[in-house]
Amino acid sequence: MNVLFLSSEVAPFAKTGGLGDVAAALPRALHRRGHDVRVFMPFYSRIEQNKYRFRSIDSLRGMRVIFGTRSFEVSIFAAQLPHSMMEVFFVHCPQLYSRHAIYAHDGDEHLRFLVLCYAALEAAQRMRFAPDVVHCNDWQTAMVPLLLKTRFAWDGAIFGRARSVLTIHNLNYQGAFPTRVLPETGLLRDSHLLHQDQLKEGRINFLLHGILYANAVTTVSPTYAKEIRTPEFGANMDGFLRARESSVFGILNGVDYDEWSPQADKHIPQRYGPDWLEGKELCKGELLSRARLPSLPGVPLLGIVSRLASQKGFELLPDALGLALREGKFQLVVQGSGEKRFERMFHDLRRRFPRQVRFQTQFDNALAHWIQAGSDFFLMPSKYEPCGLTQLYALKYGTVPIVRKTGGLADTVQLWSPRTGTGTGIVFDDFNAQAVHWALEAAFNIYRDRPEYRQLQRNGMLQDFSWDRSVKSYEALYARLR
Ligand code: ADP
Repeated sequence: MNVLFLSSEVAPFAKTGGLGDVAAALPRALHRRGHDVRVFMPFYSRIEQNKYRFRSIDSLRGMRVIFGTRSFEVSIFAAQLPHSMMEVFFVHCPQLYSRHAIYAHDGDEHLRFLVLCYAALEAAQRMRFAPDVVHCNDWQTAMVPLLLKTRFAWDGAIFGRARSVLTIHNLNYQGAFPTRVLPETGLLRDSHLLHQDQLKEGRINFLLHGILYANAVTTVSPTYAKEIRTPEFGANMDGFLRARESSVFGILNGVDYDEWSPQADKHIPQRYGPDWLEGKELCKGELLSRARLPSLPGVPLLGIVSRLASQKGFELLPDALGLALREGKFQLVVQGSGEKRFERMFHDLRRRFPRQVRFQTQFDNALAHWIQAGSDFFLMPSKYEPCGLTQLYALKYGTVPIVRKTGGLADTVQLWSPRTGTGTGIVFDDFNAQAVHWALEAAFNIYRDRPEYRQLQRNGMLQDFSWDRSVKSYEALYARLR
């Protein structure tokens, strides 16, 4: 099949979270299975240009992308996606993408990503690439299904058989803009197709229009697919998602084990596997010394690698961790940035417990690998979690996940049962500090019983969340839409 795939992030070029990982791994897996996949993303100035070889595509140089009241000159570049024989296409438009961050939150954020949508569709026309599926991701590219029904509908030769898929990686980021941007969207003449009540209320919500117009809507785990149809998790979209129930699917994300497995990891100080765990001990020692924390025999090390957003549940930690920290029961390495209140909270913990806590704010992929390899437990007390990738990485690295039972965490981590020797982690239900405290005490008890802890570690390491299975679910969905 021909698949046109649009994303605001593709790792390793540009990434802020799981979307970047998935937008690289899924196309890579589809391409390996013989599909012609053309991935489009913005050419952000932040992309490390000396690290990859970009080629300019002559026929797509100096394209004028015109919609509504706006006109932009863009050029398309291509570079090889690492670990793959396929190329990724980059929309070059410095006036929009030369910013301090991937998501700049400037006044023209809607234009930054509409240009990606229009440019990718126009590039497909110029390349004579007729997609069977146009796969868009999150609000940034969610207007594409509507554009296929309006501005691009005339071009039957290219888009006549195209079916659209919208994948929601996180329902809470919706791209809602004031209606005054309407003349800049290119949809003024088709405004009867926009959600009328919201227009009257003064808003255009990009994600909503993807939910309304995509041929299929997917999200990244079966449990999250159910949760988002409820008011509790629906972020005001639950009614629309219930209305489209028969077209909403949950397909679990996979892991790219070329990048994330301790047997093959090129970032960590020592490789290891389920039957040769000595390397993991060494990784712990190296991580502690890199973090300038003392090595305390018998004391478990907890790791966190995360965006610091309220979704992740870190507000529970001061109450949940305080006592155990004062009692010297564990050490903690945290890597993450985001909301300032959480950054302050972790800085504060580090100040109060300098021998136990280390906090690192920079975005550093290699360090994320070190923490996965060197920690004994990986903590995710999420309020909600569409899929979560880091617990999947933790499982592979023998770093026992401690997670709240929500979304993809509920689908991927099973509670350890000492009676049967089954299970892969510590799972708790309630979103409060007592529940986290209970989970930590359970973890420390298991850690003291070495054979039990080893078995739990091994169970996780033997899990298989590779893309092989998930990619077949996407293929089946694409085929169903034809
Ligand atoms: P989300 O998409 O909600 O951020 P996921 O668990 O799906 O959460 O994916 C997070 C991805 O981002 C993982 O690959 C994780 O290693 C990475 N990541 C998060 N924070 C950092 C950071 N500060 N430095 C490096 N990688 C990070």
